[in-house]
Amino acid sequence: MTREIVVISGKGGTGKTSIVGSLAYLFKNSIIVDCDVDAADLHLILKGDTGTANNFIGGKKAEIIPEVCNECGLCTEYCRFGAITEQDKTSKNNLIQYAIDEYACEGCGVCSLFCPVQAIKMKDNISGEWFLTETKYGPLLHARLGIAQANSGKLVSLLRKKAQELAADNNKQIIIDGPPGIGCPVIASLTGTNYALIITEPTLSAIHDMERLLELTRHFGIKTGICVNKYDINKNLAASIEHIAAGKGLKVLARIPYDSTFTQAQIKGMPYMEYTRNGISKHIEQLWQNLKEEIAVLKNIT
Ligand code: SF4
Ligand code: SF4
Repeated sequence: MTREIVVISGKGGTGKTSIVGSLAYLFKNSIIVDCDVDAADLHLILKGDTGTANNFIGGKKAEIIPEVCNECGLCTEYCRFGAITEQDKTSKNNLIQYAIDEYACEGCGVCSLFCPVQAIKMKDNISGEWFLTETKYGPLLHARLGIAQANSGKLVSLLRKKAQELAADNNKQIIIDGPPGIGCPVIASLTGTNYALIITEPTLSAIHDMERLLELTRHFGIKTGICVNKYDINKNLAASIEHIAAGKGLKVLARIPYDSTFTQAQIKGMPYMEYTRNGISKHIEQLWQNLKEEIAVLKNIT
């Protein structure tokens, strides 16, 4: 069975994506998924040859066929999202025209169902693109959600499905760079994974986010470990993280100190472990070793 490790942080700026880049470098030949479909950036670190863009059909949108519409106006009454409006111009036969605002349309299909003359068709809505990039660390699946498009959770699920198909063919493990927050895309990234690694830092907001993520991983029954990045910027709060982890019986897999070379590697667009074997590399290597031990004892892993 394929192993799926998801790396999450709750908030941005904890160094999560950089750490995922280093894990991809250290694990070698994993399948990597960037589930931050609103602002994917792992490909900037792992680079590689991006294949052709694949359309992501996130749902449907309603479209009025003007030649069929008898302009009765019923659809405006049925649309609960206010997406259908009368236009301020008149059509050739002096009836009022109707138009659908594609950004307001939720694709529920009610208007299409109730239109007395079948003048509304539901068309596929291309909400974004996804890519399979061959990097020297393994195949990377990533995506770009269109502007003002919803369905990020659905796009995350699509990326994971593609990764699982690849992994099944190659018997490889999957490393997922999870999106920020605790909403739908995070839940879509977490469900069914084997292990969640939470990257946090000793700030009040990061600890608050970590606790919310811990509730989620507990709810889904996913084994969880913690990595404290920049742990030395506030040792009191770092101790609070240790306390919370101990109280829940969770391991702190690494305590990575602040180091300016971490940012330099980001600026260079390289996995830290490839950028340097000095600085904080021994802490990241420790994280990787501990993570391997954690996942090695999971059930259902071959
Ligand atoms: S319900 Fe159908 S026929 Fe009536 S205005 Fe809407 S699209 Fe036109
Ligand atoms: S599909 Fe639903 S949301 Fe879209 S225009 Fe029709 S009734 Fe409104």
